[in-house]
Amino acid sequence: MQDQPHALSRFSVLVATAEEFEQFTNDTLPELLDRAAVHTRKFLKETGQWADDVAHEKLALRWGYELLERFLVCGRLEVPCRPFFLLDSLAAKFFSQPDPMRYHRGLLTPLGRFLDGLASKAVISRDALMALFYHLYGFGQSQVVKVLGLDAMDSQRIYKNFGRWRRDGWQRTVEEIGLTEPELSSLEDQKSQDAKRVSTDAGRLLGEVQTHYRKSEPEHFPCLSGEQWADICRDGHSYDYRVWHLAMCRECLEIVCRFRQGEFPDIPVPAVDLYVRPLQKNGLMVEAGVNGGNGHGMATRRANSRLS
Ligand SMILES: [Zn+2]
Repeated sequence: MQDQPHALSRFSVLVATAEEFEQFTNDTLPELLDRAAVHTRKFLKETGQWADDVAHEKLALRWGYELLERFLVCGRLEVPCRPFFLLDSLAAKFFSQPDPMRYHRGLLTPLGRFLDGLASKAVISRDALMALFYHLYGFGQSQVVKVLGLDAMDSQRIYKNFGRWRRDGWQRTVEEIGLTEPELSSLEDQKSQDAKRVSTDAGRLLGEVQTHYRKSEPEHFPCLSGEQWADICRDGHSYDYRVWHLAMCRECLEIVCRFRQGEFPDIPVPAVDLYVRPLQKNGLMVEAGVNGGNGHGMATRRANSRLS
């Protein structure tokens, strides 16, 4: 199956049973993923939603994974079939639905757009990635440093991340998401009136959002076991994995926080606690209106922001 003619003939291979389907798709997973991403890219180009940048490449990859997952589930029931052709037909069907890339109805609310927009930014910006710890759980810089187990040099990077985010990263991001000042204030009002309900709603959406966005980073995608995390925490290796995955996975973050509590009793077990505006330098929150005030024209880039 390694040489070229065989590789080409794979596209028309017929599998007869669910076991053969499984074996075949397992052997050809990278090609299948690539094909699914190509379908996504083609759809985005044809509908005028494409741009040649990292954000759109990651978007294509994410939706490639989504398609592939659907294909792996439904393909077993479609045997006998030609897997590559089945994937093509599934992609065609998927992209012919109205608004196929809207992955969760709840994400249309201001809360959903805030969470989705932050995660979307975090796959292309380290500042936004670090800011997630604060916006989702209220962690300050020093807590992030402890949870991630960073040395002095990497700790400084976290302070810089928070600083840039506070200066202009947050403002730019909410504008890209298309959230208006009244919407941001209303989210804050909801939280002050019923914090528990906002946390429950945010927690529910977060699982969906984080799973979806982790697909942009296949090498950081899988969750690790408690033992694997303990190993990483003890020895301080796998820097990138720690930093990226924990910002994007509530379950693993919880495991690591529990582990860190042995050394740092001030590390809480993370509970979803939404902060709409960035953490200020002295660690205090900003009151509504201080940082924004300019709600005009914020919605203009909304169509783009959903894609990246
Ligand atoms: Zn995880």
